[in-house]
Amino acid sequence: MTAPRLEIDLSKIRHNAQVLVKKLADRGIGVSGVTKAMLGNPLFANTLLSAGIRGLADSRVEDIENMRKAGVDGQMELIRSPMLSQAARVVKSANISLNTELETIAALSAAAGAQNCVHGILLMVELGDLREGIMPSDLEDMVRRTLAFPNIRLDGIGTNLACQNGVVPDARNMGELSALADAIDATFDRTFPVVSGGNSANLNWALGEGKKGRINNLRLGEAILLGCEPLHRQPLDGLYADAFVLVAEVIECKTKPSQPTGTIGQTAFGAAKSAANSGPIRQALLAIGHADTDPTGLAPIHQSLKVLGASSDHLILDTQDQTCPIGSEVAFSLNYSALIHAMASPFVTKQYHQNSASRGSIAAA
Ligand SMILES: *Cc1c(COP(=O)(O)O)cnc(C)c1O
Repeated sequence: MTAPRLEIDLSKIRHNAQVLVKKLADRGIGVSGVTKAMLGNPLFANTLLSAGIRGLADSRVEDIENMRKAGVDGQMELIRSPMLSQAARVVKSANISLNTELETIAALSAAAGAQNCVHGILLMVELGDLREGIMPSDLEDMVRRTLAFPNIRLDGIGTNLACQNGVVPDARNMGELSALADAIDATFDRTFPVVSGGNSANLNWALGEGKKGRINNLRLGEAILLGCEPLHRQPLDGLYADAFVLVAEVIECKTKPSQPTGTIGQTAFGAAKSAANSGPIRQALLAIGHADTDPTGLAPIHQSLKVLGASSDHLILDTQDQTCPIGSEVAFSLNYSALIHAMASPFVTKQYHQNSASRGSIAAA
């Protein structure tokens, strides 16, 4: 089989999506399925739809265009603020986009006018994480100006936390978002239907005790893919954490000293880790590196294998008591960073399958 390759179990992903859709529906919250880590892959997108997710969301226009071209159904939402230079493509491919800049909304309205359509908008509010968002004190004015555009429909508001500064979604900031939704409804005497509370980092709050207020949507990627919440990377009850396995091939296996010889400077990727002298070790070289994934986000599935380091095209393992003959394969689990880099690398073959029985188990309550 070709290596390196990413084995993707769509039945585990479907299961994760179904569980999250159900649990959140019980709390009045709908799910937008985020496809960006999978580059808008149509098999993945259709898996989400078959799990009961109605809206798909992606950060890249290119991914949304690819899903449309492949005939994927359903509402599509652009979750990164549109580039002005892509306004026409955004309006053509996405039903909705998340926005914070009036100039961009003006361009979207003009593009929608030219295409004879109406484009939906969510206004994103800054609630402390300091990535995208309108300051809360400016929201009312932004709503008023947004409503004045002829080819724009304002569907509601949203926020995004835990991405730039790790701000935890909690009763306080979610309460503030609900209060802002109530305030604009009152001021403009209508109900803006969507209040989108955030991403996978919102799940502890969303599934926990306490009122959910006006929050009726979450945009979920990582939790569906990796079965964990991103704040503490804890497994979520009832979800598979092993839908993805990265496999690489051994190209050298030799006994070598545990410490390098010579004067030590930097490597291509910064300062080298210093190793303790533990005598000669059995070392395996794998044909995978920074050009394929984020090596720091890989964990060998076989517990006794240990990653010593990586360069552009090589990963170095201490094989301990394992034999790793050349030509054999080593399997890894991946974190979110390793996953998105592997997905985006042309060197990593993606292999989709549907057999959740093959490996691993569901996290227990
Ligand atoms: C990436 C992203 C998401 C999804 O985040 P996950 O942690 O993968 O659930 C949601 N909203 C926005 C704005 C994003 O950029």
